[in-house]
Amino acid sequence: MKKTDVVIVGGSAAGLTAAITARRHYPDKKITLIRKEKLVPIPCGIPYIFGTVGSTQKNLIPDTPLEKHNVDFIIDDVVEINREKRSLKTEGGEEIGYDKLVIATGSLPMMPPIPGFEKENVYPVFKDVERLNKMQDKMKASKKVVVIGGGFIGVEMSDEMNKMGNLDVTICELLPHCLQLAFDQEFCEEAEKLLQERGVKILANQKVVSVEGDKKVTGVKLGDGKVLEADMVVVGIGTVANIDLAKNANLRLGPTGSIWVDRTMRTVDENVFSCGDCTEKFSFFGGKPSKLKLASIACSEARIAGANLFGIQRESVGTIGVFSTAIGDRAFAVAGMGENFAKQQGYEVITGTAAGPNRHPGGMPGMVGQTVKLIFEKRTKVLIGTQMMGDYAVGELVNMGCACIQHKMTIDDIACFQMGTHPALTASPVVYQFVNAAESALLAMS
Ligand SMILES: Cc1cc2nc3c(=O)[nH]c(=O)nc-3n(C[C@H](O)[C@H](O)[C@H](O)COP(=O)(O)OP(=O)(O)OC[C@H]3O[C@@H](n4cnc5c(N)ncnc54)[C@H](O)[C@@H]3O)c2cc1C
Repeated sequence: MKKTDVVIVGGSAAGLTAAITARRHYPDKKITLIRKEKLVPIPCGIPYIFGTVGSTQKNLIPDTPLEKHNVDFIIDDVVEINREKRSLKTEGGEEIGYDKLVIATGSLPMMPPIPGFEKENVYPVFKDVERLNKMQDKMKASKKVVVIGGGFIGVEMSDEMNKMGNLDVTICELLPHCLQLAFDQEFCEEAEKLLQERGVKILANQKVVSVEGDKKVTGVKLGDGKVLEADMVVVGIGTVANIDLAKNANLRLGPTGSIWVDRTMRTVDENVFSCGDCTEKFSFFGGKPSKLKLASIACSEARIAGANLFGIQRESVGTIGVFSTAIGDRAFAVAGMGENFAKQQGYEVITGTAAGPNRHPGGMPGMVGQTVKLIFEKRTKVLIGTQMMGDYAVGELVNMGCACIQHKMTIDDIACFQMGTHPALTASPVVYQFVNAAESALLAMS
C-alpha cells in the first residue's frame, strides 16, 4: 500500500483549491490528488464552450497549479474508503493510505422524473469533456432545442446556443420567471427581455410533463397539452451532491442529503474533511440548511478544509450565495437574500434602489445604466442582500456587496461608505448607486 499524508478526492474547483491551500499551510506534507478524469472542464465556463469560447479544449482547468504546488496527482476512480485502515482503493487497483482525507467529489446533474427522459438526444449538463463534445456535435446538427429549466445554467446555455446561429432555442421554466430563485422580479423581467431580444424564446409557468419521440426525442409535452417540437433537449434544473463514496464509508449525511461537516469542514471522522458541491451547507442567515451549490462556495470551503487538516485555523460563516451572469454585454448579479426570499423567510425588510450612469459625465465612453438594490433587515438595519444590473463591473461590485453582508454593515455604514471613483471607471461619487440605494432605504424607513 502506498502512503501519503493527505489525499484529496476530486480535481475540480474544490479539490484543486483544497490541494493548493493544504500546500500553502503544510509545506512539508506529501499531498496527493486523485480525480476521475484526465481533462477537467472549468465548470462555470461550460455554457461558453458552445458559443463564446468555442470548444471544450479552450475550457480546461490546467494541471500547472498542481505541478507548481508540488501536489502529486493520479487519474483514477476512487471506489472505496476504509476509515479504520485510513486508506482508499481505486478502480485501477491501487490502495493508498492517508493521515488526512478531503472528499471533494462534487455534484451530478439532477434528473427530473419525466417520462421519456432516457431518450436519445436528451442532454443533462455533465461536467465531462467527452459528454460535452457529443453535446456540441449534436447542437451543430440540430435545428430546434428545448432547454428545461430557466435557472442560471439554462439561461447561460440558451444564450450561448443561440449564438451558434443554427438553433431555435426555447426555455421552458416552471416558475413565472427565469432566474426567479436568485433574483427579484424586476431583475428577472429585464433579463428575460434581453434574452428575448437576442432571439431566445421563453415559456414561463410551463411544466414539461414528458419527452416525446420513439427512440430519439421529437419534442416535449407541456402541462397544457401542447407539444413543442425539438430534435434536442438540454436539461438544466440543478445538481445533486455526489455522495456515494462517503455514504458507503458510513459518513454522516446532512438534512439535504449531502456530506455532513461542522464549521471547520470536518466530517464525523476527525481525519476526513469534505468541501464543495458534495458537502452539506448552512445558510449565513439563521443557519438553516442550504442547497446552494456554486464554485465560489466550493472554493471558500476548500480554503477552510485545506488549512484545517492538521490543526483548526478557519471556520465557515455559512453560505451567503453570490452569483453573477451576463446576457450579451449586460450583467446581473446577486449576493445574499432577495427581497421576496427574505420575506418568505420571515424577515421584515426595507429596500432601497438607485439607478444611474456607471460613468461620469454621462457622455463618457462605455456609459451604461447601472441599477443597485439593497435589502436590509428593518429591525437591525443590517444589509442582508443586494441585486444589481449594469455592465460587467457589477460582477465585481457584487463581491463588495457580499463583504458588506458578511460583515453585517448597516444602512448608515453603507450610506457613509468611502469609495474610490473615476470618470472613466465608475459612477460619480454623488450618485454612486451602492451608496444612494442605502440613502433611499433610509428615506423609506421614515
Ligand atoms: C453549466 C454550469 C455553469 C456553472 N456556472 C457557475 C458560475 O458561473 N459560478 C459559480 O460559482 N458556479 C457555477 N456553477 C457551479 C459550479 O460548477 C460548481 O459549484 C462547482 O463545479 C463545484 O465544484 P466541486 O469541485 O465541488 O465539484 P465538481 O465540479 O462536481 O467536481 C467534482 C470532482 O470530483 C471528481 N470525482 C467524483 N467522484 C470521484 C471518485 N469516486 N474518484 C475520483 N474522482 C472523483 C470529479 O471527476 C471531479 O473532478 C456552474 C455549474 C454548471 C453545471
